[in-house]
Amino acid sequence: MEYLLNDWRRTHYTNKVNPTITGEEIVIMGWVHEIRDLGGIIFVLVRDREGMIQVTAPSKKVTKEILEDLRGLSKESVIAVKGKVQDSNKAPNGVEIIPEEIKVLNLAQQPLPMDPTEKVKAEIDTRLDSRFLDLRVAHVSSIFKIKDNMFKTVREYFDEEGIMEIHTPKLVASATEGGTELFPITYFEREAFLGQSPQLYKQMMMSAGFDKVFEIGQIFRAEEHDTLRHLNEAVSIDMEASFMDDKDAMEILDKMISRVLRSTNENCKDQLEILNQTLDIPEGPFPEVKYDDAVDIVNSKGVEMEWGEDLSRAGEKALGESQEGFYFLTEWPTAIKPFYVMPQEDRPEISHAFDLMYKDLEISSGATRIHQYDLLKNQLEAKGLNVDAFADYLKAFRYGMPPHAGWGVGSDRLNMVLTGVENIRETVLFPRDRRRLTP
Ligand code: ATP
Ligand code: MG
Repeated sequence: MEYLLNDWRRTHYTNKVNPTITGEEIVIMGWVHEIRDLGGIIFVLVRDREGMIQVTAPSKKVTKEILEDLRGLSKESVIAVKGKVQDSNKAPNGVEIIPEEIKVLNLAQQPLPMDPTEKVKAEIDTRLDSRFLDLRVAHVSSIFKIKDNMFKTVREYFDEEGIMEIHTPKLVASATEGGTELFPITYFEREAFLGQSPQLYKQMMMSAGFDKVFEIGQIFRAEEHDTLRHLNEAVSIDMEASFMDDKDAMEILDKMISRVLRSTNENCKDQLEILNQTLDIPEGPFPEVKYDDAVDIVNSKGVEMEWGEDLSRAGEKALGESQEGFYFLTEWPTAIKPFYVMPQEDRPEISHAFDLMYKDLEISSGATRIHQYDLLKNQLEAKGLNVDAFADYLKAFRYGMPPHAGWGVGSDRLNMVLTGVENIRETVLFPRDRRRLTP
């Protein structure tokens, strides 16, 4: 057993090993997915991030040491194989590797806490308890490859639009939108909280003259819900832009989502196939449903909803049934939106707020924001919030705050749409919920 790499380096990921390199000597590195010892010949399926390849060791062609090493392998051990690529119509990718030398870099203990070959299916809790092993499963890691592509696409889009990346503090002194839903922490001799949203800080960047900003960062919500779409720690994609209103913000959001859908289809074909998922690209802008009409639709489906109420879960489901895919929900009552949302001028009971929905799932909330100090202070008071706690935020509105608008997208929820998974926990490496704080 030779556990150091020394001068060995991987030359190929397994998906790059194909008949065009027949005869070449290559080095692959990965995990033992399966071993079959037929006496005169040993087959080892080696798996890496990109796929699997068969290593074939006929006892007549390979050394005794190699046969011994292979016979000593346990499933999920880490090995490196140096050998020649050979055509084989019986092997999975049409090629196999005949080993010339191998290194057993680390033996995996047995039994495994879960089976990454999925011959035995595990419940989500068992899987999350051994997440590192679970993530070796192709359809699980596919979710994160799609997420990686999603963030790359989002950053590329923001960059092209001249939207600056910022980082705001997650250790905060007071609430963003009210006293509930916050995780208190001990900050030396004071109490502080984990940030529930970058909202107040990204708005202050408008007063700073940054014009267009985005942040991809953690948000923390101390809500006790146990649903398939809420976590206590999520990653939000936030955007805020000056000299723009809700319609402009919706256009930016629409373009970003459409671009993510297209790039997922282009760059993640294999992953979508593994997940058995197809993504439709919407033609033209997302449709818009006004809150008033949403209330009618929900009631018409037999779910009671009064004008002025937020959508209940049953309401979201009823509305979602009436829609194909993405749609904007607009003209929300001002009373059920946060204090910083701009009321309409001619009918202040309606706001310039919108949600982006995918069927029955809320993906984003956004709005034109209030930029006038007096109105903002009034709205804080009207919502029963402690104005003093917002003093630093309010200050930014007294010395030249431009009109602005923005939104926040739950990246994990967007990833649910892309991958088709029904439980948000699937889309997060180490999810945090009411019951789970480890691993
Ligand atoms: P919901 O009504 O679904 O609980 P919300 O209206 O409370 O969401 P916002 O404060 O509008 O959420 O946050 C903006 C976006 O962040 C949401 O549209 C959603 O995509 C995402 N988000 C909010 N809370 C969570 C959470 N607990 N877990 C995962 N994503 C979340
Ligand atoms: Mg919302």
